[in-house]
Amino acid sequence: MLAGSLAAQSQPPQSPPPPIRLFVDETAAPQKILHASLVIPASPGPLTLFYPKWIPGEHMPDGPVADLAGLKFTAGGKPVPWRRDLEDMFAFHLQVPEGATAVEVQLDFLLSAPASGFSGGASATSQLSLLSWNQVLLYPQGRPARDFTYAPSLRLPDGWKFATALPIARRTGNTIEFAPAPLDTLVDSPVLAGAHFRVIPIGPDGEPRHELDLAADSAEALAMPAETIAHYNQLVAETGALFGTRHYRDYHFLVTLSDDVAHFGLEHHESSDDRVPERTLLDDVLRVHNADLLPHEFTHSWNGKYRRPAGLATPDYQQPMHDDLLWVYEGLTEYLGDVLTARSGLWTPEEFREHLAYVAATFDHRAGRTWRSLQDTADSAQLLYDAPDEWLAWRRSTDFYDEGALLWLDVDATLRAESHGHRSLNDFCRLFHGGPGGAPALQTYTFDDVVAALGQLLPLDWNGFLTERLNSTSPHAPLGGIEKGGWKLVYNETPNEDLYAAEQSRKDMDLSSSLGLSLDDDGTIRDVIPGMIAYEAGMGPAMKIAAVNGRQFSPDVLHEALRVSRTSTGTLDLEVSNGQYFRTFHLDYHGGLRFPHIERNSALPDALGEIIKPMAPVGKRP
Ligand SMILES: [Zn+2]
Repeated sequence: MLAGSLAAQSQPPQSPPPPIRLFVDETAAPQKILHASLVIPASPGPLTLFYPKWIPGEHMPDGPVADLAGLKFTAGGKPVPWRRDLEDMFAFHLQVPEGATAVEVQLDFLLSAPASGFSGGASATSQLSLLSWNQVLLYPQGRPARDFTYAPSLRLPDGWKFATALPIARRTGNTIEFAPAPLDTLVDSPVLAGAHFRVIPIGPDGEPRHELDLAADSAEALAMPAETIAHYNQLVAETGALFGTRHYRDYHFLVTLSDDVAHFGLEHHESSDDRVPERTLLDDVLRVHNADLLPHEFTHSWNGKYRRPAGLATPDYQQPMHDDLLWVYEGLTEYLGDVLTARSGLWTPEEFREHLAYVAATFDHRAGRTWRSLQDTADSAQLLYDAPDEWLAWRRSTDFYDEGALLWLDVDATLRAESHGHRSLNDFCRLFHGGPGGAPALQTYTFDDVVAALGQLLPLDWNGFLTERLNSTSPHAPLGGIEKGGWKLVYNETPNEDLYAAEQSRKDMDLSSSLGLSLDDDGTIRDVIPGMIAYEAGMGPAMKIAAVNGRQFSPDVLHEALRVSRTSTGTLDLEVSNGQYFRTFHLDYHGGLRFPHIERNSALPDALGEIIKPMAPVGKRP
């Protein structure tokens, strides 16, 4: 569909335009500002330049245009006036004067963003910086991004090292000149740089080069244990065994270790931008909570970059993306990422199961499933990424990640059960994500292509199987995959390890399975779940719990009150402020602490155990 519309838009064959020169001065990154200049070949007459709006992998129009400043155009040394488009805030109109052959652009990018969000969030500290090229460039209207060639160069602060998937042409002191690259490759190839830097080659010999490129706010934070390095070696080997082909020249995990940047992961074809807290390699709780990040982003090189829904494979950064197949793009990646985390040893089997139990319990208490289908969470992803945490259970969120993972577990377990162990999602990955490999390529797909590929593995009504689950408005989690996998979801008083790590990282309490409530560690309520006791009593987001059974609130005090509720005959009394007013809620709750786990059902074979077994020989790089 998209290839067609692109062809229709295209002009008659044009000769390739000359390269656009781009220079970025990153020396003031610690001061939270980048200076950039471009030389854009142009002819006299009207010219429209775009600042990238729809950022690949972010699935929404969140290009950080508000942080673009100092914009000035000149031609032949003379200023050229400009005007922003009144409907598209990302478009700039100017008139190229007679006799000019190029427009020179000066611009700054302001790095003073909050440590939240995606690549538009905080990306620099005094010790490091992650450069996303889309933030420091403009491009002319009229051609697909891949048809513009950029000749980029970059100046770094003294003593900083760097890594990127972009091939390097030459280096002079602190200035790096990169080989000219198409605009889409440039935007897909961020640069990580910093004062404390470590490069760790990983992966089996005889494979393309894989690197863990670490930049941290301290030298100590780079101390990745040898055991963890061995697990990342195994991760590379496991992706080789799973997909059979690699669609990149080499691969860089660009890992930022800092408490002062936005924490997220963003996939690229030949690298990933992975930002985690500073002590992630040293602290066991942070390790468990972030273990699945690199496997997820790495999986995207196949599922998302090589195979991409047609509606997400837009020709440039201004055309709106269609998010309706994100339950494949992100849901399958979430599933495979979790499975690869376990296969590579980054999670133990028990840690994998605890994660799965926490996900299953979350959707078992997702009240919004009764009005909003999984499909609609994908369709409206561009709204949901930035939606508030308040009323999350009722609004729903970007559930196509984790509920999508449950759906793909169901597909995997169904393939295994119906084929008596002869087929699995591993076969789907070979079939769907294979191909010649060797360099980045793009193969788009539609819903029907997914159905057809599954049908090649096992004759079943896959259209019906998927649409039933995508359109379901059942109040409860889709647990078919866990159950066919030989396990069942249970609740008891033993803390869930994955939930605990998440709470410690987020500094919150998730009581979804007991009171139907989640709150910050200071007692501020984030969410209540319709149909559960806190909501039914009248509690709501932004209220703040001041006291529990007459004693000043702390997470421990509330946990203890829940624990004894099972044997207590009285109510659980919560004194709560709502703005400037106080009220005491008397909850008739006796369910005790309730944490989710999955438990073996010995009546069925342990398919889940098979799923997380390593496929590649387990070994260490010599
Ligand atoms: Zn993803």
